[in-house]
Amino acid sequence: MFGGSRIAAPRPGWRGWARRPDRILRRVNSNVPAHAAASPPGTHLSTCPLCGLEGGREILAGTDHRRGTPGTFRVVECPSCRLARTDPWPDDPGAWYPDEYPQHGGSESLTARASRGALQRASRPGAGRVGRLLGRAVPEADTGGALAPASRILDVGAGTGGAVAAFRAAGHDAWGVEPSLRAVLVAEARGTTGVVPGALDDALEGGLIPSGDYDLIRMSQVLEHVPDPVALLRTLRRIISPTGRLVVGVPNLDSLARRMTGGAWDGLEFPRHLVHYTRDSLLWVLALGGFAVTSMRTAPLLGVLPGSIDARTAGGGHQRGWSDALVVRVAMYPVEWTLGALGQGDGLVAIAEPAGN
Ligand SMILES: [Zn+2]
Repeated sequence: MFGGSRIAAPRPGWRGWARRPDRILRRVNSNVPAHAAASPPGTHLSTCPLCGLEGGREILAGTDHRRGTPGTFRVVECPSCRLARTDPWPDDPGAWYPDEYPQHGGSESLTARASRGALQRASRPGAGRVGRLLGRAVPEADTGGALAPASRILDVGAGTGGAVAAFRAAGHDAWGVEPSLRAVLVAEARGTTGVVPGALDDALEGGLIPSGDYDLIRMSQVLEHVPDPVALLRTLRRIISPTGRLVVGVPNLDSLARRMTGGAWDGLEFPRHLVHYTRDSLLWVLALGGFAVTSMRTAPLLGVLPGSIDARTAGGGHQRGWSDALVVRVAMYPVEWTLGALGQGDGLVAIAEPAGN
């Protein structure tokens, strides 16, 4: 399917997205509902994204202890494929992303700046051992291996464009897609080009990003937000280079902190996380999407351990908020890192390559 076909170049000028306002704004608007606080959106029983089955074994139940979305949510495991998902699902998942969702927000935090610096250093051609060590220390900087000069890179769920900026500063041909217009405008204000608002399919169809031949596709803390992860992965399979690699980071439902704090675990992020992965189910979903995993490990997820303890000690309800303090997050990071190294971390990082080349 890749047999020598020419890959179309993107239209000149990243602002090309502005020419498709109707289509893109329809997606964007679902992210920023002015009425969300006054009239909470509804929910419906979820079905397994892989099998379409309703119901399943309840693993745990909890609330949105971060943002206070009304209602109780469960994690249920599909009786057929064992993929875990949130139940119920929001009718309009985008409606439960508050306008100040930190990943979409204004000034760049100290930890985001540190991640961006680490990624820039690790993605330089010839970064070698230093790059590998940085990827181990900071999962956000993991590129899954060395990058050739001027590699073509796509960051799916690019947020405010920190990774795209880092890759571009390291000399790569980097692009990003991000559903939140607010986040893209922040990227623009910071001088980061190449981040396109909206859905990946629209960005590809509209020629707003290169249509294929990606050497690296990065998708950090995204797959758990997506209602149909296999469909997204199949799109990525179509546009990745036959020799390219995919780096996926998701929360780890089997982590020690999750087992100890149950529904208070910060990696659940009800109801914004729709699917919850274990090593097995991530492997399985990637395989269905057309990717063969070459390595998988558990990794730290900054702030998840203190956030879980905060919610747990608050009785499983709303966090008191001390866990958001930078000093707490940084102080607990060595513990999170050690848990990751012991295979008990709150994150999973999978490196995969396109299957069936
Ligand atoms: Zn299933």
